[in-house]
Amino acid sequence: MRRIIRRKKSGYALGIALCFIGLIVLFAVLWKAWPNVFASDDVFSALESYLWTKEFDFGLGVRLKLMHLTMMGAVALVLGIFVLAFSRQVFSVYAGENVLLQCPFCKNHWKASRGRGLAECPHCRQFVQPTVVRIGK
Ligand SMILES: [Zn+2]
Repeated sequence: MRRIIRRKKSGYALGIALCFIGLIVLFAVLWKAWPNVFASDDVFSALESYLWTKEFDFGLGVRLKLMHLTMMGAVALVLGIFVLAFSRQVFSVYAGENVLLQCPFCKNHWKASRGRGLAECPHCRQFVQPTVVRIGK
């Protein structure tokens, strides 16, 4: 398993925002629906019919059925999880990218995968803190 040294911050922010929006929407819908359905014998079918019949008024003539709102919330949540997983994957690939390192003692160069603080110089066999010369494949 590769070590994670830097996060794809934009991806994470987007993913977290989507998850957050999705959760808030789902929670809000449930919060609104719950007092109307919890007393019935079959909570799930009562919830379903409630979501199909009730509409949420955003104002300005924009109305959405609660069921559609629920679906949008669920989609946002799933999308957010995907974005989070994807940015993590992108990040792992990035972490495995090769860099050209330079030994501070013998000044020789060698290639290594990114993310290691200390490394053994393959030329002088010393344990050193190498300088990054170039980032590349
Ligand atoms: Zn060296």
